[in-house]
Amino acid sequence: MTQALTYAAQNASDRLKPFKIERRAPGADDVQIDILFCGVCHSDLHTARNEWQNTLYPSVPGHEIVGKVTAVGSAVTRFKVGDLAGVGCMVDSCQHCASCAEGEEQYCENGFTGTYNGPVFGGENTFGGYSDSVVVKEKFVLHIAPTDNLAAVAPLLCAGITTFSPLNHWKVGPGKKVGVVGLGGLGHMAVKIAHAMGAHVVLFTTSESKREDGLRLGADEVVVSRNPDEMATQANRLDFILNTVAAPHDLDAFLSLLKRDGTMTLVGAPDHPHPSPTVFNLIFKRRSLAGSLIGGIRETQEMLDFCAKQGIVSDIEIIAMKDINEAYERMIKGDVKYRFVIDMATLKAEAAA
Ligand code: NAP
Ligand code: ZN
Repeated sequence: MTQALTYAAQNASDRLKPFKIERRAPGADDVQIDILFCGVCHSDLHTARNEWQNTLYPSVPGHEIVGKVTAVGSAVTRFKVGDLAGVGCMVDSCQHCASCAEGEEQYCENGFTGTYNGPVFGGENTFGGYSDSVVVKEKFVLHIAPTDNLAAVAPLLCAGITTFSPLNHWKVGPGKKVGVVGLGGLGHMAVKIAHAMGAHVVLFTTSESKREDGLRLGADEVVVSRNPDEMATQANRLDFILNTVAAPHDLDAFLSLLKRDGTMTLVGAPDHPHPSPTVFNLIFKRRSLAGSLIGGIRETQEMLDFCAKQGIVSDIEIIAMKDINEAYERMIKGDVKYRFVIDMATLKAEAAA
């Protein structure tokens, strides 16, 4: 066991504060990583504040981890000391159910182990990337291509894969007209990735101020969703919509923009249900309403390789670990362009001071 520095929530209402934990010594299959940067996902905030009523405390969030390998177990073949490495939302799964066999570990029928907040179906808590180090099974560690902007790669590990996977699954590409709802951490990655996949991208935002950014990030059109006249211009025109908004909202307003046989996939994870959509809105045009959860390990590597090739990274604001609580408040207000990333050198420096 080695001691690791972290920032943790001790309950749903207090600020995150410095907290020491034990990390296991690397076993035969493990990779030990010195964490250099960790992205701040809205799921971290949902979890720290127990908004999904399933948080185990103390809670150390963070599942957009990039760093350098500092040790490997005797059975590790794909990583060596000094390699860049990434860890996303999962650190384990059963490895024998049908979903695991197909490389869709996020849908593991026995429950994958989250990078933080532990196994879905019981067992010990796990501690995430708001930390100076982590030890993870090789199978769940990703390769990161050499880059001069490592901090901006971190958000790909959750925001990137959560948007790439459904865009891929629903075969977004040239000739397809794709809507992205919400320009936050997930949404801005969805715009970049869907554009790089060759689709015509329509961004739907509640923020008039994000119009220009939407176009700069790769949207072909931007619609301010509070404006019914603008919404009407897209009626029956979209093949696919990726909806990243967690706040409960009227799904019909977006379902009615789908063409016949179109699908809207929800990835936002609400703490209160959306109002139920009108069934007629689905049946009259054979439309589908779907959901999607992150992506499997193989697909996450595919996404990282795709983004490296296309030169796609996240638009980030780097913060010090001690500023995480203020960052959460700003994230709630939508005041981030478009992902906070924690520089873990600040955690190490704070502990050394
Ligand atoms: P975020 O950066 O906070 O972005 C959310 C965006 O939603 C905002 O920027 C805003 O964009 C839009 N929005 C529209 N109405 C809103 C309202 N009433 N209140 C707040 N925002 C509103 O969050 P994120 O990190 O992208 O995460 C989005 C959701 O996805 C979270 O619930 C998160 O837990 C979930 N998530 C799911 C998965 C999965 O596997 N399915 C993975 C990761 C995260 P505009 O200003 O453009 O309207
Ligand atoms: Zn996330």
